[in-house]
Amino acid sequence: MKIIFHCSDSSYGNSALITKWHLDRGFRTIGYHYVILNGLLYKGYYNKYYDGHIETGRPLDDGSVIDATEQGAHTRGHNKTVGICLIGKSGDFTTEQISAAKSLLIQLRTQFGNIEIKQHSNFDFKKPHCAGLDLNIFNIYGVV
Ligand SMILES: [Zn+2]
Repeated sequence: MKIIFHCSDSSYGNSALITKWHLDRGFRTIGYHYVILNGLLYKGYYNKYYDGHIETGRPLDDGSVIDATEQGAHTRGHNKTVGICLIGKSGDFTTEQISAAKSLLIQLRTQFGNIEIKQHSNFDFKKPHCAGLDLNIFNIYGVV
């Protein structure tokens, strides 16, 4: 099953704020299943304890595996996937966020079995900077 990374393309944010942004765009709720914070919760408001904090967005379905029935709203044509949004501009994430992403991937793999890790730019040439990750970092640490 595919997991697709995104960046918020903002310097700050959190799950509640992205939910508001997505509602304003006509979505029924937030498009991502997980949001990984960088500590800047709102514009001008930093709390170091939220650097690397993982918030949930829309729920996964209630099946026992991550499969093609997971419905997200984050990658045109590829929304039967799990969406993870890192708060930040392209590739500009904190060490704590990357560490949290690894932990989340390991948790998802343990819980649901095989996972395939991609990012938005793999599917949409109009989004070449999303998320701006080097996906090899996850291989190096044995996540996949
Ligand atoms: Zn994206």
